Amino acid sequence: MANKDYYEILGVSRDASNDEIKKAYRKLSKKYHPDLNKEPGADEKFKEITEAYEVLGDATKRANYDQYGSADGPQGFGGGSAGGFSGFDGGGFGFEDIFSQFFGGGSQQSTDPKAPKQGRDLEYRMDLKFEEAIFGVKKKIKYNRSSECETCKGSGAKPGTSPETCHNCHGAGYVNAEADTPLGRIQTKQACPVCHGTGKEIKEKCPTCHGSGHVEQKHEVEVSVPAGIENGQQMRLQGQGEAGKNGGPYGDLYIVFTVEPSRDFERRGTTIYAEEYIGFAKAALGGEVKVKTVYGDVSLNIPAGTQSGTVFKLKGKGAPKLHSNVNGDEKVKIHIITPTSLNKAQKAALLDYAKASNEEVNKGNFFDKVKDAFDGKN
Ligand SMILES: [Zn+2]
Ligand SMILES: [Zn+2]
Repeated sequence: MANKDYYEILGVSRDASNDEIKKAYRKLSKKYHPDLNKEPGADEKFKEITEAYEVLGDATKRANYDQYGSADGPQGFGGGSAGGFSGFDGGGFGFEDIFSQFFGGGSQQSTDPKAPKQGRDLEYRMDLKFEEAIFGVKKKIKYNRSSECETCKGSGAKPGTSPETCHNCHGAGYVNAEADTPLGRIQTKQACPVCHGTGKEIKEKCPTCHGSGHVEQKHEVEVSVPAGIENGQQMRLQGQGEAGKNGGPYGDLYIVFTVEPSRDFERRGTTIYAEEYIGFAKAALGGEVKVKTVYGDVSLNIPAGTQSGTVFKLKGKGAPKLHSNVNGDEKVKIHIITPTSLNKAQKAALLDYAKASNEEVNKGNFFDKVKDAFDGKN
């Protein structure tokens, strides 16, 4: 099955001007006009030339033909046959590309294999200690990425040589193909098998990258983790992803943070939660309590009559708000501990206390007996 290349039929280049196309058509149509040329096959050739000119001589049809391989625009959509798409698949022309052309939303770079294309984004998972997430930290990380080959500066060609226009597609990056489908013969564009859509052919390949223009390399970056980062948050480092194509920029690196839990604290946003345990006497009489914060221990004044479960707020002792000078608070929950063993003096004091409060309690050795019984079992 012959590829119908209208440009080839008229003998013009793909970027030929309207005038050039017109001139080529006039010259060829005179040569093959059935009234003037009686050679066998001349009328067939004349028809072909006319067909080619009808498309290339019309701006809209020519644009359609350049883009879709047919003067009528996209082909093979309504048919439901795979034939319409097969030409696009595997050649770098995905469904999305066609779709975006319909609605004008797509960027040209995704459809034109010759256009500069940004490199792939990469993801790096970074573990942080609880405090590192709060105060920020600088960390050097190493990972593999494809980088621009330094030997050929990404061209893929041996130093001193440069990529040439592809002989197969003459630089277009694609070739036209016809396919027979139940709905008839349709034309599709296929990525050029020689240059894989780049329009360029490398005759002498770069010895370092073997023509790809890229090399897989260990890459090191120092990451400044900002103070206040949270578990699951991510950070983008521009240009630290993989090398682009056709001179396009590098992709980005996304760092995703996992923050280790702390033994002493819990954190939700900028608020840090802690718990402290105090005796019954301090809770009843009030006093100073030493409280842990990520900034070091602080002294908290507990008022007389503090109940178990009361939460106190330590202003500004929480985590910083990301990219600001604002700090959250720490919230301390106070638990009152009931003593599990009492010495003589404590017992006597509590019995006096119970008496003064008119509270009925176990006085004798019952408490000790029970305790002994449990101790004996262990
Ligand atoms: Zn080619
Ligand atoms: Zn190279």
